[in-house]
Amino acid sequence: MQQARFRPAVEFARGVLLARPPVPRDVWGPDPARRELAYFLCQTLARELNWPNARFVPGDPMSTLCNLGGVLTPGRAVALAVGDRLDRRMTTAEWSNIETLTLGGAIDALLPLAGRRCTECDYVLDGNVTGTCPECGSPTGA
Ligand SMILES: [Zn+2]
Repeated sequence: MQQARFRPAVEFARGVLLARPPVPRDVWGPDPARRELAYFLCQTLARELNWPNARFVPGDPMSTLCNLGGVLTPGRAVALAVGDRLDRRMTTAEWSNIETLTLGGAIDALLPLAGRRCTECDYVLDGNVTGTCPECGSPTGA
């Protein structure tokens, strides 16, 4: 009965995800910051919107990933999590625009916003989640 609440497009997308093999990281390109943001976004989409796994690929439309996950306030939780990750607040207009893109396009749009740097030595901390600056060893608060 749980399944009956999902629209056919959701059922289709869930089926695609369940049938999809693990997605290699290099589909996101060679840039470590882009890969890190892609990983974060995939995990967040899967967790917040109840997708069966995080096997998303760059060509997946954000409109499907964000709006058909079977939850009442689709996309909003993802927008908030992304805002936290980028240390800024995503406006509704910004996020509405993101939702018109593919997943790969969304990552490209979000990546330049992820300009986090070490407050001690100005080292670029994009994608660094260790909590320590790799350059000078200062805590980053990540
Ligand atoms: Zn540093």
